[in-house]
Amino acid sequence: MKRWNLRRFAALFCCLALLGGCTPVEGPAEEPEEEKEQQEALPPEEPAVQPARVTLVAAGDNLLHNTISFDAEQGDGSYDFRPVYQFVKGMVSAADIAFLNQEVPLSGTVGRYPTLDAPQQAADAVVDCGFDVVNEATNHALDKGVQGLMTTLEGWQQRGILTLGAFLSPEDASQPRLLEKEGLTFGFLGYTYGTNGIPIPEGQEYCISLIDRAKIKSDIAALRPQCDYLVVSMHWGTENRLTPTEEQQELAQMIADCGADLIIGHHPHVLEPAQWLTGAGGNQTFCVYSLGNFVSSQNTKETMLGGLLSLTVVRDEAGNITTEAPGILPVITHFENGGKNYRIYPLEDYTQDLISRHAVRKYDSPITLEYYQDLARQVLGEFQQTKETFACQP
Ligand SMILES: [Zn+2]
Repeated sequence: MKRWNLRRFAALFCCLALLGGCTPVEGPAEEPEEEKEQQEALPPEEPAVQPARVTLVAAGDNLLHNTISFDAEQGDGSYDFRPVYQFVKGMVSAADIAFLNQEVPLSGTVGRYPTLDAPQQAADAVVDCGFDVVNEATNHALDKGVQGLMTTLEGWQQRGILTLGAFLSPEDASQPRLLEKEGLTFGFLGYTYGTNGIPIPEGQEYCISLIDRAKIKSDIAALRPQCDYLVVSMHWGTENRLTPTEEQQELAQMIADCGADLIIGHHPHVLEPAQWLTGAGGNQTFCVYSLGNFVSSQNTKETMLGGLLSLTVVRDEAGNITTEAPGILPVITHFENGGKNYRIYPLEDYTQDLISRHAVRKYDSPITLEYYQDLARQVLGEFQQTKETFACQP
């Protein structure tokens, strides 16, 4: 047995003795000078694996309709979107990594449906809320053209936010999206099913990642060895559908087979279920098909219910990396008549008084707290979380 192995054996023996509650092991006797020198000449020990725990939170569509911007407008013409996020900020900012799907461009104008856009101050509120990773691969990404997308990406870059799914240049597109936390490297990829029929200009195909099975496979193959935990963001599915389509399920299984750890789905504007998938290599992949809207000014009751995903990524002493206690906390988008007071509340904090003032009752059938509690339970099942079981606490 080589000396370094002996040293390891001794260290292990010490640990076992301590664990067993035996009398403390006496320190090693002073080694002869000659042996010490030999030891120093040996190659250094491989570093032991550091156990780590990293909490991750993810939110769905930050769907900033023009009425939300109007409500955020201040007397002096500036915008303050921070009040929208004030009741979820504590949970988001407590996470080690917080992911958001930025549905619309933030190129500086107030865009009217169907070409959406919002002022850049919206990005300040997202940063203030605690987000640090933003998906830009959405069907609205090109609502203000490639230039609008570039302005949006530059805005995030200036604010130190990691963006995925859309890129400033071919060089930018070739840079892996990596984030380091507690010695663990997280890799991110993002794709959208399309861009609302707005063509991607020839020669600028790099600017947004479309869902393309061959590309997803080769991107995962390239990124997998560079990270410990791989997250794939998918802008997919059918709007207002509470269950995943066959295509979503088939894509999710393909992504699991490629070895991703987590799939974060969005776009249907309503919650869809989550599930564990087993990849071809026996790996476990957690998939939430849709987190619904984080905030919006849509006019149907189902679209007011969204979810905050939370989980803990754990690396144990043997170096195994697992996803621990994934689940979704239901959240409600609240707003009042005249497009006032847009706020996101955890469903469990939402009150009878607030729901009686919700403007969506003007457009859809009456809503009750029980309706949302039932809907959340029905869609999320065993993966529904409460503030108490949420992975990170404010
Ligand atoms: Zn969308």
